[in-house]
Amino acid sequence: MTYASVLALSLSAFAAPAFAEGKGLVGISMPTKSSARWISDGNSMVDQFTAAGYDTDLQYAEDDIPNQLAQIENMVTKGVDVLVIAAIDGTTLSNALANASAAGVKVIAYDRLIRDSGDVDYYATFDNFKVGVQQATTVVDGLKARFPEAHPWNVELFGGSPDDNNAYFFYNGAMSVLQPMIDAGDVVVQSGQMGMDKVGTLRWDGAVAQARMDNILSANYTDKEVHGVLSPYDGLSIGILSSLKGVGYGSGDLKMPIVSGQDAEVQSVKSILAGEQYATIFKDTRELARVTVGMVNATLEGGEPEINDTSTYDNGVKVVPSYLLEPVPVDASNWESILIGSGYYTADQIK
Ligand code: BGC
Repeated sequence: MTYASVLALSLSAFAAPAFAEGKGLVGISMPTKSSARWISDGNSMVDQFTAAGYDTDLQYAEDDIPNQLAQIENMVTKGVDVLVIAAIDGTTLSNALANASAAGVKVIAYDRLIRDSGDVDYYATFDNFKVGVQQATTVVDGLKARFPEAHPWNVELFGGSPDDNNAYFFYNGAMSVLQPMIDAGDVVVQSGQMGMDKVGTLRWDGAVAQARMDNILSANYTDKEVHGVLSPYDGLSIGILSSLKGVGYGSGDLKMPIVSGQDAEVQSVKSILAGEQYATIFKDTRELARVTVGMVNATLEGGEPEINDTSTYDNGVKVVPSYLLEPVPVDASNWESILIGSGYYTADQIK
């Protein structure tokens, strides 16, 4: 053997562990690519898990429950050490997780609580009740600014997907602000449609929200003006705004109603800058990925994960130890410092 080949061999032997000795395989099951936020979540996690020495298997289920179940089962068969799951329907995973647990796989509920299962180790999310409070607060602030003379304010309500635990937290948080105003007669829901059973939007589908807004407008607002719409997610807000524009809001004498949102998706940020959507709620998916990587590290290597809530998220079987991140309201006044300043978007993406 030449000196050079001995050197090469010993160097490669020395270097090998850095490549080969992964800390474990993480299965990442995301609900859909139809919304940009989940793409950011997936990418941030792959980046951060890789940097921390893990291998990843990232799958998107296109909002199809059997698809997500099959993907999770495949991950367990492949031998993942941990599953990180943002569930489509938080109640459908119990059997799959029982099997995962029997195989020694740890489970982190990502952003959305997984219900009806004792096999969920930790939950990484945002303060979902606070998201709702902030959404309603942006609506009320906008009403005061754009419709100072109107009394009462006519506001319609939209909720998220009834199979997503978060949707109830958003709605309840929002109603903690709006219900007292309804009781005081300052806000009126002309359609009378209130409560998640009436205002929920299956699978967070913008087309469904648009159709419901069309119906609400034609049934209740031919001789009245709607001033505000509580929308829990940017994808719904865009549909609601299309419906409003379709009957002339935002042109002539008919001012655009105040519409809230969530996720700071590019289309909605542009809409805010165009004076259409009023506000959104920014949830930094990079931070959520960071917390999740920490939970996985702690689960596999021992040590205490970052936990700041041990009482809120009862999934029907146990209270899942959670870490709640802070959501941030974004409107035309602060979008640049928050979204561009933090490097979440480049200025070019918003142009
Ligand atoms: C997430 C929101 C998102 C919604 C629709 C919720 O579970 O928390 O950020 O807007 O799903 O994708």
